[in-house]
Amino acid sequence: MPKPTKAELAKYKALLEMQLSTLKGDVGSMRDEALRASEQDASVDHLADQGTDNYDQGFMLGLIENEEETIKLIVEALDRIADRGEWPFGACPMCADELEAQKKVKVVKKAKAGAKGAPEAWIPKARLEYLPWARYCVRHQEVEERNRESA
Ligand SMILES: [Zn+2]
Repeated sequence: MPKPTKAELAKYKALLEMQLSTLKGDVGSMRDEALRASEQDASVDHLADQGTDNYDQGFMLGLIENEEETIKLIVEALDRIADRGEWPFGACPMCADELEAQKKVKVVKKAKAGAKGAPEAWIPKARLEYLPWARYCVRHQEVEERNRESA
């Protein structure tokens, strides 16, 4: 996979910034709604209604949680584009680790700091266009999710 070009990085940056402002707006209005629902709970006498409200509220809070997680991922991706991330934007750090491990056999470790992000591990463009804040390639995303479930 080729490394993303400057033009592509600019495009992802614009996309991520747009998604970030959309999500931030959503979280704000959802939080207001969840709050309003909890205020109503206090004055509702019917148990059945209360049950529904609690369900709605839980659903809403779940959405907020996911959106906040996504916002975090977008901010991280923007950091990577700005060269302030833990690895270069568009690279899969786990692929980089694998490549590094393979190379270690024959190559003396380079003194250069940050060589960890060894950019031969680029995530396919189609994936980045669909999910610009992706941290890993599809294969390693699955590994990561399995690890999280079993943790
Ligand atoms: Zn990978």
